[in-house]
Amino acid sequence: MIAVKDVVLRLFAERGVDIEEIGRIVYELQRPYSNSISLEQCVESVLRVIEKREAQHAIITGIALDMLAEQNALPEPLNSIVRRDEPLYGVDEVLALAVTNIYGSVGLTSFGYLDKLKLGLIGRLNDKDKGRVNTFLDDLVAGVAAAAAARIAHQRVGDVVDNGAATGHSADAGEAGPQPELREAASG
Ligand code: MG
Repeated sequence: MIAVKDVVLRLFAERGVDIEEIGRIVYELQRPYSNSISLEQCVESVLRVIEKREAQHAIITGIALDMLAEQNALPEPLNSIVRRDEPLYGVDEVLALAVTNIYGSVGLTSFGYLDKLKLGLIGRLNDKDKGRVNTFLDDLVAGVAAAAAARIAHQRVGDVVDNGAATGHSADAGEAGPQPELREAASG
């Protein structure tokens, strides 16, 4: 059986989303709160978020809707609404909040901030040229970044994150095994 996580990484790669670029957004979000934060830590946190079932399901759902709208395969009026990324259609944000909320309400402010400022990759995805529909994708990336930042914030104060693994020098850090593969999958 194909792991949903691998599907997420493949879809991200196909849709122009680089995991390291999401990590860079997380780094920007977290830098004001920590001098010792590294980009590597931020990328690692993004990968942890993507291991969560809730995140995977939201991501594959949103990207599927973007792709179907691109092919004009959604029923109307939904197809036009998604293609135009109508400002009053807030379902893309609501779906992305399912990802942000994995680590509690701490991520909400970051999500709102990213939605306004459209940092880096998010701004690029939000650009409506190139015939691509990224109505859901830009919010999903913001949702993942906000969740990854919230996860780091929880770790910093010693909260338990990720399936009860202790924080700090935790099982988290010890599970370095699958990450290089994940990065490869993400970039390939
Ligand atoms: Mg959107």
